[in-house]
Amino acid sequence: MAERPIFRLDVAADGLATLCFDLPGSRVNLFTREALEDLDRALSHLRERDDIGCLVLLSAKPDSFCHGADVSLIASLAQAEAGEEGSRAGQALFRSWEELPFPTVAAIHAACMGGGTELSLASTFRLASDREDLRIGLPEVRLGILPGWGGCVRLPRVVGLTDALEVILTGKSLPGARAAHLGLVDALLPEHGFLDHVRRFATEVLHGLRPHRPERDFRELLLEKNPLGRRIVFDQARKRTMERSRGKYPAPLRAIEVIRVGVEDGAAAGFDAEARALGELAAGTVSKNLQHVFALTQGGKRGTGPAALPPRRVGVVGAGLMGGAIAHQAAVAGGLPVRLSDIRSAALVQGMSHASKLVYGRIKRRRMTRAEAREAMARIQPCLGLDGFERSELIVEAVVEDLEVKRQVFRELAERVPESTVLATNTSSLSVEALAETTPHPERVLGLHFFNPVHRIPLVEVVAGAATDPEITARATAFVRRLGKTPVAVRDSPGFLVNRLLIFYLTESMWLLGEGSAMEAIDEAMLEWGFPMGPVALLDRVGLDIGIKVARVLEDAFPERVVLPEWDWQGAFFEPGHLGEKTGRGFYRHGPGGKRTPDGEALRRLAIPSHSGSGDNGSITERLVLPMVDEAARCLAEGVVPDAATLDLAMILGAGFPPFRGGLCRWADHQGLDTLIAALERLAGTLGERFRPSDALRDLAAGGGFYRS
Ligand code: NAD
Repeated sequence: MAERPIFRLDVAADGLATLCFDLPGSRVNLFTREALEDLDRALSHLRERDDIGCLVLLSAKPDSFCHGADVSLIASLAQAEAGEEGSRAGQALFRSWEELPFPTVAAIHAACMGGGTELSLASTFRLASDREDLRIGLPEVRLGILPGWGGCVRLPRVVGLTDALEVILTGKSLPGARAAHLGLVDALLPEHGFLDHVRRFATEVLHGLRPHRPERDFRELLLEKNPLGRRIVFDQARKRTMERSRGKYPAPLRAIEVIRVGVEDGAAAGFDAEARALGELAAGTVSKNLQHVFALTQGGKRGTGPAALPPRRVGVVGAGLMGGAIAHQAAVAGGLPVRLSDIRSAALVQGMSHASKLVYGRIKRRRMTRAEAREAMARIQPCLGLDGFERSELIVEAVVEDLEVKRQVFRELAERVPESTVLATNTSSLSVEALAETTPHPERVLGLHFFNPVHRIPLVEVVAGAATDPEITARATAFVRRLGKTPVAVRDSPGFLVNRLLIFYLTESMWLLGEGSAMEAIDEAMLEWGFPMGPVALLDRVGLDIGIKVARVLEDAFPERVVLPEWDWQGAFFEPGHLGEKTGRGFYRHGPGGKRTPDGEALRRLAIPSHSGSGDNGSITERLVLPMVDEAARCLAEGVVPDAATLDLAMILGAGFPPFRGGLCRWADHQGLDTLIAALERLAGTLGERFRPSDALRDLAAGGGFYRS
């Protein structure tokens, strides 16, 4: 018996009882093995009590009702049988909860996820607080599994088939108001005095004033009431899932089937299908990879370095594409006052209108109220020159990519601001140290490399130079976290980490294009492999001016392996001003609604014959991915990042490396480094020295792989 129960029962004289979930030593409630055992014990005891008229399930954690199953339980499932057994045990436990001889009320005052949501679905009533950050969801598909403790069977009965499919297949969690709208919770009660409101509700239940809410009869719903209507709903769900994931993620597809069985063949068949599916999915490679990625992202969010306070006021110099977006992120996500400066008033106007467009998008998606949006926009103060920057505790420079211009900006800033102010550059290709060395007090200079589009890409590379004070790095890292981004520390070296790896993806696609592959075929091959964007489309998205500039910097640094075809880039793109998506033309012509068609004229100008044939997918993916693996080995050997896990995290968050493959290094380990080295040797023999595998990769292979060495 645990020293102190994890589920604490309290029964009042009037028969109103509470069961309080309080996992010791944890900020959040989780279903650990011990918690499940303790709930089982509590249930045995509860069944014996004849003095309970209504039971309220509470949590003692300020910010967590229950965050679901402990992921280490899922990680420990190596065989399908073990997963199936775990699922059946959880189902039986929650069925006992459902079958208690008195009504139960789940009092959801804060985040409720996975198993927490499943237990509340097995309760007679669910009440949620109207607190703003409350979320309720079933995020299991994000770990490559499905709700396995009855959620796939109960949710459609509570909210109807269509909404249940949406919630389970996307794994997105819902704000309280949305959960109430769907009927997932019976009432939304004020955050202030929540427990008093719950007690009033439960007292009414106790006195029989709140009849059991009948299960929603999904057969009554128009589309769901007949087999044909249901088939349409399931077919649409399958189609949407395939569009979203190209079938790379087995869990949502399997969940559709389990939900179908639960709806059409009854609850018992549904529970059985759910348990078998959970077992198979949890032991599968994709789920193991997604569990690995989950652990990486959690680690990335927490961080390991020394804690520091984020700045209270920030400045951004340069109101272009990046500066405007960084200012927006700091004001909206970070809630910080920001001074945004430029030398051109037109840029300030544009930067502010870009920020307000992003804010408007948040209002439209109901992520923000109009009043909050007004407040956030008022936090950004545009200005010509650097007046008022003295008060900023951290300044991000995002002016044009020119060392002399940046040095001048840093010198001016250094004259104006106190020595303690953090000076960060958003450069993507210049050396942070080269910039710091001409700045008074170089120890407060570092790089904060945001990615475009800033509001979407969760990664920021934190680049400390040799002289950077660790305290400055810690403060800048705290700033990145405050903005809701994941910081990754990388060494000051050409292209830092993500661009250095990604350049191989981009330049090799140019060689393929020159040899006769059609650009759509190249892009399609990489989409099929799991990247969110093919390399040619990505180059157009990044902008040809920027992409080629970064490529040249890396060509200078690594001339034997970063090689761009010698085409007339100037004549084909720069002179006519065809710089990619931002100008409407690049390799593709970009139409409204994101529609793109290959621009034959660009190919003619580059003297490349235009092709329509499909390339060989196998060789396209091999040529684009294997050089990144080799470069990853070099980056680790040079200490650009400390370990393979950090590199994998950065590539997933910064370059969209497919999460279901678990990360670049993990994927390479799964293939076997010896196999990849042999493939690179073969490519070097036929296509050129740029593919020759490095000693760094051979050393890793000899040591047992990226993760074992
Ligand atoms: P941009 O051309 O859109 O904006 C640069 C802005 O700086 C312009 O508005 C210009 O008027 C202003 N400026 C120039 N000199 C200035 C000065 N002395 N004082 C104040 N403002 C000045 O460029 P961008 O794409 O926003 O890039 C800015 C920085 O971010 C560059 O270092 C770039 O390498 C880096 N970066 C860009 C991307 C990207 O995808 N665009 C991604 C990551 C990093």
